[in-house]
Amino acid sequence: MTKEELWQALLAKIQFDISQANFATWFKNTEIISRKEGKVIVSVPNNFSKEWLLNKYNKAILKILYEIDQSIKEVEYEVTRSSVRKKEETEVNIEREQLDFPQFKINRETNLNPRYTFDNFIVGPFNELSHAASQAISKNPGSTYNPLFIYGGVGLGKTHLLQAVGNEIAKNFPLKKIKYTSSEKFTSEVVSSIRNQTMEKFKSSYRVIDVLIIDDIQFLAGKEKTQEEFFHTFNSLYEKNKQIIISSDRPPNAISSLEERLCSRFEGGMITDISLPDFETRIAILKTKIQEKGVNVEPDVLEYIASNIKRNIRELEGSLNQVIIYQKVNNCNVDIEKIKILLKNVVSSPYKKITSKKIIKSVADFYDLKESEVLQFSRKKEIVRPRQIAMFFLRQELKSSFPFIGRRFAGRDHTTAIYACEKVSKEIEKDNKFKEEIDLIKQLILKN
Ligand code: ADP
Ligand code: MG
Repeated sequence: MTKEELWQALLAKIQFDISQANFATWFKNTEIISRKEGKVIVSVPNNFSKEWLLNKYNKAILKILYEIDQSIKEVEYEVTRSSVRKKEETEVNIEREQLDFPQFKINRETNLNPRYTFDNFIVGPFNELSHAASQAISKNPGSTYNPLFIYGGVGLGKTHLLQAVGNEIAKNFPLKKIKYTSSEKFTSEVVSSIRNQTMEKFKSSYRVIDVLIIDDIQFLAGKEKTQEEFFHTFNSLYEKNKQIIISSDRPPNAISSLEERLCSRFEGGMITDISLPDFETRIAILKTKIQEKGVNVEPDVLEYIASNIKRNIRELEGSLNQVIIYQKVNNCNVDIEKIKILLKNVVSSPYKKITSKKIIKSVADFYDLKESEVLQFSRKKEIVRPRQIAMFFLRQELKSSFPFIGRRFAGRDHTTAIYACEKVSKEIEKDNKFKEEIDLIKQLILKN
C-alpha cells in the first residue's frame, strides 16, 4: 500500500467515527509525507491542526493505521509549507483533494483552476440565466453585460461558473489579461499594500487587467478602505470597457454596509441568481461526476442521493465521493441499504441555522473549555480571549445588539461587548495567524 493509499484508507474510515464538522475542519489538507520504521509523519497545514490532531485524534488515528498495517507504531504531525501552500492555492474540498481524484494545477497568473469549465457545468432551470449570461460574456467580454453579478447560496456553482467564464475567455482570447480573485484576497492585498507602502504598484497591477473576476464580494461588507480601493479599480476598468464579473451569496442591496455607490454600480449591470437544482438536474450532475471519475455506482443509489441531498451541489458531490471511497476501500459496490447508513448524518440533519448557543459551543469546543466557562465572569487569560471571540461572533453572525451580548455573558454591560468586538476585529486585520484561527472557529460554527 502506498502512503497515499494508506492515508486515503484512514480518511475513509475515520470520517464515520467523528462528526462531519470535525472531519472537514481537522483533516482537510493533511497527507502522509513519510513512513519509515513504524513511524508515519503526517503533514498538516497549521499549528492548530497539529495540536488538535495530536490531542484529540492521535489515538484514533494510530488505531486505524495499526489495523491496516501492524508495523505502524507511531504517528507524528508536522506543519509543512507544502500543505500551507496547497491551502492558499485551492479551495477544493477534502474529498477531491485527498482521494486521488484528478488534480489540476491552478494557473499562477490568472488564479484560474482549469477543472472548472462550461463542459462540465450542468444547466437546469435553476441556473439557466446565470449560465446564459456567462456564456455571452465569454464570447464578447466587456461589451455584453457589464458588470455581471451572480448571486446564490453556498455550494450552488458560483465559483464554478465564474471560473468557467475565465477559462473560456483565456481559450478564446489568449492575449487578454484575466484575473480571478476572492474579495478576501483582494482585501488582504489592500491591507498589505498599505502596510508596505506599495499601493501604487497594487493599483497599477489591477488597472491593466482585461477581465476581473471577484468571488464572494459579500466579504467586502464593512471594509471601508478596501471598498474604496475596489471602487476605484472598478471605475477604471469599467471606463475602459473591461469585463467585470462578481459573485455574492446575496443580491447587492442585501449586502449590509456595502457603500451605496458600489451597490449602484453593481445594479447598473446584469444581475442573475442561482437557486436550488431540481431532482432531474441533481441526477444529471451525479451522472456526469461518475462519468468524469470513471466509476460505477448503482442507479438506485444515485437516485437515493439525489432525492435526499437537496441543499446544494457541493454536498451532492461530497455524498457521491463517500460512496466512491467506500467502494474503493472495501472493494465492493454500495447498495441501497448501505447508502442509507453512509449518508445517515447528512440526510437527517435539518437545515442548519446559526444560533448563539452554537456559537458558544463551537468556541468552547475549539478552546477545549466548557460552555459555562466561556459564559462566566473570569479574568483568566485562557478564558477572556475565547469569551471575546464568542462576543465577536454573536455580533458578526447574528447582528446581536451590544447590550444583548453583554447580558449573555454574565451580565456585562454593552461597553465590554463593544470593546471585545473591536479588539477581535482589529486583531484579525493585523494578524494572519489569528485570522486563520477565527476562520476555523467559523467553520465549526457553520457545521455544528
Ligand atoms: P459556490 O461557489 O456557489 O459555493 P461551487 O462553484 O464551489 O459553489 O460549487 C460546489 C461544487 O459543486 C463544485 O465542485 C462544482 O464543480 C460543483 N457544481 C456546482 N454547480 C454545478 C453544476 N451546475 N454542474 C456541475 N457541477 C457543479
Ligand atoms: Mg464559491
